[in-house]
Amino acid sequence: MAFQIIDTCINCGRCPKYCPVEAITAGDDIFEIDPDICVECEGYYDTQQCAVVCPVEACIKL
Ligand code: SF4
Ligand code: SF4
Repeated sequence: MAFQIIDTCINCGRCPKYCPVEAITAGDDIFEIDPDICVECEGYYDTQQCAVVCPVEACIKL
């Protein structure tokens, strides 16, 4: 159960501060979601916040 960031990420840096469990960090090339930490916002929000705030729809469920 996890969202992922795909390579269309433009490194805007917006999503980490919206993640309730701090699952998102800057990777070598693009931002990354730790699948062991991401809870798909369950228990926090009705929608996945990273997907909501991403301007290029790079946070998706694969
Ligand atoms: S879906 Fe929610 S918990 Fe998972 S990385 Fe995105 S903001 Fe964080
Ligand atoms: S909000 Fe989208 S474009 Fe910005 S860092 Fe996160 S995944 Fe990348």
